[in-house]
Parts: sequence; C-alpha cells; structure tokens
Amino acid sequence: MSLLQVSELGKSFGGVNAVQGISFELAKGELLALIGPNGAGKSTTFNMVNGQLKADRGSIRLDGQELVGRKPRQIWRMGVGRTFQIAETFASLTVVENVQMALLSHDGRLFSTWRRASDHRRDDALALLDQVGMKAQADRACSVLAYGDVKRVELAIAMANSPKLLLMDEPTAGMAPKERNSLMALTKQLVIDRGMAVLFTEHSMDVVFAYADRMIVLARGHLIAEGRPLEVRDDPEVQEVYFGSGRTFENIAARAAKLGLA
Ligand code: ADP
Ligand code: MG
Repeated sequence: MSLLQVSELGKSFGGVNAVQGISFELAKGELLALIGPNGAGKSTTFNMVNGQLKADRGSIRLDGQELVGRKPRQIWRMGVGRTFQIAETFASLTVVENVQMALLSHDGRLFSTWRRASDHRRDDALALLDQVGMKAQADRACSVLAYGDVKRVELAIAMANSPKLLLMDEPTAGMAPKERNSLMALTKQLVIDRGMAVLFTEHSMDVVFAYADRMIVLARGHLIAEGRPLEVRDDPEVQEVYFGSGRTFENIAARAAKLGLA
C-alpha cells in the first residue's frame, strides 16, 4: 500500500477552482516532484495535505488514515513534515539551538526559560546537523550563514519530527544551481537513509530530471501527466507542448486546454 493516497481532491476559492479532483499516490522512500505553471494549484495541494487548508472534496490518506478534517498539528504528529523558513526571531539563535527548539517542540515540552532548555537534546540536535553536513557550524548564528546552509538547517529542523512524509514547496527557490543540486542530493540521501517520502515542487527541470523518482504535472487544477521524469518528458504530447517549442510552463496550460481540461 502506498504511504500517501490522494483521491479526487478538490478545492475552490470563491469562483476559482484551484484544485479540480486530482488523484495520485506516493510510496515510502519515493521522491515525487509536483510541477506546473504559477497558479496551477501546487501550493493549494500542499496545504491540503498538511492541513492548513481544508479540502472541499476528496480524500487524503496517510498509511490508510484520513487526513481531511484534521488540524495541522495533528497531521504533523501523524508524520507529515514540511520545511519552514527560519523566522527572523530565530535567526539570532545558533544553528544547534534552532534544531534543539524543533526537538523540544516534537517532544511537546515547554521550558519557562531558554536557559533550562539549552542543554536539552543537544547531542540529538548535533546528530541531525551531522546528517545535513552542518555540524561544524553548529554554534554559529543562523543569521550569518550562507543561503544554502540555511536551507540545510531548515531541513534538519524538519527532520526533528522524524516525518514519514516531507513536503517541500519550492525548496530551491532563490538558490544558485550548485546549491540547488547540493540540497536535492542531500534530500535524496535522507530519503534513502530514512525511507522517508518527499513531495516537492520545483521550477528547475534539471533538478526534477536529476532527482525525482516520479513526477506529476498540474495545470489549472488538473493533473495532466504522471510518470517517471524521462517518460513524462518523452511522452510525445508533453514533449510537443512542454519541452518542444519554448519549454515554458505556459505550454502546459495549452495542453490542458487542448485536452478540454481548462
Ligand atoms: P501554485 O502554487 O501552483 O502557483 P496555488 O495553489 O498557489 O498555485 O494557486 C492556485 C489558484 O488558486 C490560483 O488561481 C490562486 O490565485 C488561487 N488561490 C490560491 N490561494 C488562494 C486563496 N487563499 N484565496 C483565493 N484564491 C487563492
Ligand atoms: Mg505555489
């Protein structure tokens, strides 16, 4: 059985049908890319999976358990993690302190002062930082790190909850190609080492082809293609409208219109 089973999922905002009855599955240990032009419904799909948005219709099952109708906190507890940008208020803390905070949150513990929390689970936090290649920078403030290194710390923070499924909405946005590849290689390694599943959105096709096990393509709220990246790329119709003339995401919308979906 798949780890995640999404079926006939739909969401509208007023007159905008953001997601129009999409179905897909995600297995343990799989890296699935969700691509599509701006406004395709990618973030809306993510936010329904993590509970920030309630689906109008359809079902989202994790290990057979229904997520629709549950609160974000419950869904997080069930093992659905997501990467968050380190908030400005936490940027002044050190790298290891940020990961310790995440571990404390996972434990459900609240400390009245940071002083009492400061030694808590430091070793576990360092172990997580080691996995993302940031142990040597553990005692630096997050605010002084290079952008790519901040992204690694954000990944370690997400790992503190030991997610079964990790959601990454545009994880490599704003990164140089080298940093992008390094972050995705790391993510792939975590998927392999932990048997975790990852659903991510990505604008760089190079990243998708290099790292995704499978991809799904959304356009105007519809799922219009699905498969292994090279199969999707080699699908004659996708090739014609998507990778052929101009390689633009707008061509996906054209394909949707042609199929009578838009
Ligand atoms: P993507 O992440 O693929 O760019 P989104 O899921 O953010 O797409 O948006 C899908 C559609 O839903 C867009 O037309 C967007 O304008 C609309 N939309 C998203 N969120 C809201 C919202 N909170 N209120 C109204 N419309 C929204
Ligand atoms: Mg988005």
